Parts: sequence; structure tokens; C-alpha cells
Amino acid sequence: MVLRKASGTHLGPLGPLVQVFREKGILFGYRHPKSSARDCLLSVFQMTNETMNIWTHFLPSWFFLWKLLGFLLSREVRADGYAWPFLAYLATCCAYPLASSLAHTFSTMSLRARHVCYFCDYAALALYSLGSAVAYSAYVFPHEWVGGTFHRYYLPIAVLNTVFSTSLACYSRLAEAERPKLGKGMRVLAFAYPYLFDSIPLFYRLSWCQGGVIRTHGWHTVLAGLTCFLFATHLPERLAPGLFDYVGHSHQLFHICGVVGTHFQMLALSTDMTDRRSRLLASLPDPMAKRDLFGTDLGSAFFSLALFEPEAGLKGWTWA
Ligand SMILES: [Zn+2]
Repeated sequence: MVLRKASGTHLGPLGPLVQVFREKGILFGYRHPKSSARDCLLSVFQMTNETMNIWTHFLPSWFFLWKLLGFLLSREVRADGYAWPFLAYLATCCAYPLASSLAHTFSTMSLRARHVCYFCDYAALALYSLGSAVAYSAYVFPHEWVGGTFHRYYLPIAVLNTVFSTSLACYSRLAEAERPKLGKGMRVLAFAYPYLFDSIPLFYRLSWCQGGVIRTHGWHTVLAGLTCFLFATHLPERLAPGLFDYVGHSHQLFHICGVVGTHFQMLALSTDMTDRRSRLLASLPDPMAKRDLFGTDLGSAFFSLALFEPEAGLKGWTWA
């Protein structure tokens, strides 16, 4: 096993430090494990085994930002508290691919930089999971569950899951050095568990409801399953080491399935938000419940405070 720079420079056999940078089934195309920031940036335009990982998340982050801006400009979002959870969700959709593309870009500056980069990546992914929970709580819950006990505890548990999954995913990087399989298993659990919890209301509707939006939710669910499968199995490069070093390896496919899945999730949420509006609002018992269940505490007030003005943020806490 040898290591090559993007330019093709031969760097010698993989030592114990460099081994940490190695991916299963990927033989060539590695960048130097002590690259400068400038080298990392330049490598974005060179063909390495990270180039497609970077672009498959960098471009979608701008697509999702375009969606976010389009949503902001298309309606009176500031005056419509019902739309704020979707705004919070869209912001997390922009954040996670951007954090990931930055992590893939700068992860070869040093071992410490690699850990820090992926810690940020995992935190952004956990935030996206929380953003999904905020949107599901507002728009996806089955009518018969709205206002019930599970609905009341759904978001607080999702917040705890976010803290738990981020901690577990970060710890898995440290455990991976000693026991690679255990580290990988912990990371799969860290991302699969919050997704499964967040999707409980969705799974119920997929099982018992029909219609166009259910099909769109179904596509998102299939793609989420495929994403998890690719991440866990390292296919196809595991079957043909060296053949997918630059294009077509599992991490690139994992990125692509993830963002296409997010796109379907966004479409389905947008449809649910519009079609179920009057019935969802009517089925909630009182304004205080609306505040709690639609996640304004968690999402909308934060984005009001951060993006608009303090008064608007405070309004978010009292369901204007
Ligand atoms: Zn990635």
C-alpha cells in the first residue's frame, strides 16, 4: 500500500499515522496527511479520492440555500408562525452538506484537524436530524396523535437524541483507532437511532395512509435506508478495491442518496405543510400547545433572534 499526492507524487508506504486516513477499499488518490490549508483548497480542483465527496455536498448546500431564500421571499414568513418550523428545517438542510464539504476539504491538514472537521460534520448532521423532528412535529404527525402524550414529549426527546448522537459519533472516532468495527458500529447507531425515532410518526402514516404525499415520503424513506446501507457496507469498493478510488465509491453514493432523500423529504414536508394546515391548527387545543408542539421554542424563536430582530424572536416565544 502506498500513498500518492493528488499530483501523483509517491509518498511511500502507509505508516501507523497515515493508516488512520485510509478508507476501506480505496487504494490510491489520497492527499498528503499533513497538507497545508492552501493545498487542501487547491485539491478541490484536482482529482483525489475526496474531490467528489466535496462537490457532492458543496453544490447541494447552495441548492438548499436557494430553496431557503425562495421560501423566505415567497410569503410572509415573519408573520406566519406556522411556517417557522419549516424555515428552521431548511436552515439545517443548508448547514449539513456545507459542513460536510468543508470537513472533506480540510480533513487532511493533520490528525487533530481531521477529528475536529468530522466532529463539526457530525454536529451539523445531528442538527439536521433535529430540524427534521421540528418539521415532523409541526406538519407530519398523524391527526389522531396531534396534542397527545407522545407529541408533547417528541421534541424534548429529539433534543436529547441530538446531544446523545453527536457525543456518540464523536466518541466513535476515538474508539475507531483501537477497535475499527466497534467505532463504525457506534457511528451507524449514532445516526440511525435519531432518524428512526424522528420517523415514528412518518412510519405510522406510511403504514396506514395513502396518497401522493405518502409516496413522496416513501421515496425519502427508501433513500434514507439506502444511505445507511452504503455507509455501513462500503459497497461497491469493498468488492473491487482500487476500482472506485476516484469516482463511484460508497461515500460519494452515500452523499448523493442523502441529498436526493433530503430533496424528497423537503417536497413532502412542503406539501404536508400546505395541505394539512387548517386541520392541524384546528386540532390543537390552545395557543400554548401550538407553541410547544410546533417547535417555536426550539426553532422559530432562534431563527428570529439570529436573523431578524430581537422583538420578532420574543414574539416567537409567545406564539404571535
Ligand atoms: Zn461525507
